[in-house]
Amino acid sequence: MTRVFSGIKPTGHLTLGNYLGAMRRWAAVDQHRADALFCVVDLHALTVDHDPSRVRRLSRQATTLLLATGVDPELCTVFVQSHVDEHARLSYVLECVATDGEMRRMIQYKEKAAREKRRGGSVRLSLLTYPVLMAADILAYGTDEVPVGDDQAPHVELTRDLAVRFNQRYGHTFVVPRTTHPDVAARVMNLQDPLSKMGKSDDVGPGIVYLLDEPDVVRKKVMRAVTDSERDVVYDREERPGAANLLEILAACSGGDPKTLGDAYDSYGALKKDTAEAVVEALKPLRERHKELCADPGHVEGVLRDGAERARAMARPVVDAAYRAVGL
Ligand code: ADP
Repeated sequence: MTRVFSGIKPTGHLTLGNYLGAMRRWAAVDQHRADALFCVVDLHALTVDHDPSRVRRLSRQATTLLLATGVDPELCTVFVQSHVDEHARLSYVLECVATDGEMRRMIQYKEKAAREKRRGGSVRLSLLTYPVLMAADILAYGTDEVPVGDDQAPHVELTRDLAVRFNQRYGHTFVVPRTTHPDVAARVMNLQDPLSKMGKSDDVGPGIVYLLDEPDVVRKKVMRAVTDSERDVVYDREERPGAANLLEILAACSGGDPKTLGDAYDSYGALKKDTAEAVVEALKPLRERHKELCADPGHVEGVLRDGAERARAMARPVVDAAYRAVGL
């Protein structure tokens, strides 16, 4: 059976980008067709300035939202990365296979390091090595497929490179994984700045729709989305990124092709109104399930305990084999 692995960082409140770009498919498709693992990757949350008292809370919150999207622990494995030591164990061995140059070339590193410096902070070494830990997350489980938004494509590409290099150097140990992206909304953009990704770690802003935003807040954010001064509604990601983003979001939430959906509109006002309602409808079941799950925190704890045990049993033989292969 195909093994699927994907993760979510508990660095802030989850966004519509996380949902449409990744989580929605995990629940609707991946857990039914594959042996899937979904991981709250809390070690990655330490790569930037963070409040220790928030990390655990955000991990629980991300897990609860994951379950609220319909991810079912009877069908797949849900766990927190730091509960399974194998991730950190393998990461070190992979650091001995990766090169300094390929780490520095990672686009997310360049962007995030520049942001940390702008804020007057220093850049943590772990921000540089983050893609190696991500490679360990994936390779420890013999993963075949990694369903992610397309912002993660370079990291999965690096994971493939490291797996191939390791196998060539030390003998076949790792499955070489491939990535899968959704057909629409693989990169949801910030509503106020459609040239930037809608990211949860970014500053809280009116351009980011959070999964737990009240319906009226969602409406307000979508109605205020930045578009352009043209009169017609045309899908053009390069020239008209704001409109294209709305059309992608509308298509992802209510079906259709973003390239032709615009034909039905002669104003941005009408497009925004329909997009806002489509987002509110898409998030409704999730919000309801989230409320139920919050009433039963013991359930979430139990899911994570079982998940860590199952994940450990899968990862240990792979990581042990990697240690043996390098001579440890
Ligand atoms: P973030 O960038 O919000 O911190 P994560 O690194 O936790 O997100 O990513 C979790 C998943 O959500 C990944 O599969 C990532 O590709 C996806 N994702 C994050 N932001 C977006 C976005 N704006 N559009 C599409 N997918 C996204």
